[in-house]
Amino acid sequence: MTTSLLSTIEWICHSAFRIQAEPIIYIDPYEISHGPKADIILISHSHYDHCSPEDVKKIQKKETIIITEKSSVKKLSGDVRQVQPGDSVGICGVKIEAVPAYNLNKTFHPKKNGWLGFIIDIQGQRIYHAGDTDLIPEMEAIMADIALLPVSGTFVMTAEEAVQAALLIKPKVVIPMHYGNVVGDVKDAQAFKKGLKGKIEVVIPEKL
Ligand SMILES: [Zn+2]
Repeated sequence: MTTSLLSTIEWICHSAFRIQAEPIIYIDPYEISHGPKADIILISHSHYDHCSPEDVKKIQKKETIIITEKSSVKKLSGDVRQVQPGDSVGICGVKIEAVPAYNLNKTFHPKKNGWLGFIIDIQGQRIYHAGDTDLIPEMEAIMADIALLPVSGTFVMTAEEAVQAALLIKPKVVIPMHYGNVVGDVKDAQAFKKGLKGKIEVVIPEKL
C-alpha cells in the first residue's frame, strides 16, 4: 500500500516534490522545468529556495490552491490561503496539516516566524514534509507513513540528526531531501541511509 503511494512521490530537486496523484500536489516547487499544473501547492516558508514565485507561476492554474504561511503569502498571487502551525485544512479530498518547522541550534528559521512543515493525508496514508527544520520536540507527535526529511546540515538537520529524527517519527519509509542544490550533496543522503540501515527503509530518489 505504501509502495503505490510512494511511487507517486517525485523529487524535483532540493526540497521540491510533486505528488503525482489525484489531486496533483507540489511542495516547495523550485527549479521546475516541466510537468503538469498543480491542484494544490504547499509552501513551507519564504526563503527563495522554497517560495519561488517564478516556479509557482509555471504550475499554477486559475483553480490552484496555495497553502502557506504569512511571509510567503505576500510574495504570491491567486488563491493563496494562510495557515499557521497547528492548522489543518481539507481540500480536494485531501487533509493537510500544518506543523512547526524551526531551528534550535542556528538562527535561519526562528520558531517565532511560524514557518511550516506539512502532513498530507492522502489515500489513507500520511506523508510528512518536514520543511526547513532541526530535530524539534514536536516531531515526537508526528504520525507519518512516509517522511521527507532534510539532511544537508548548515540550515537544517545534519544527516546524523535526521537519523535521530527518523527514529523518533518512525515512518515506514523515509526520503532524504534538501541537498544537491543550495547545500549538501548525495553523500549526506547516503550517510542518512547508512545510519538507518536495518531500522527504517530509506529511499534516495532520482531527480526527475
Ligand atoms: Zn529556509
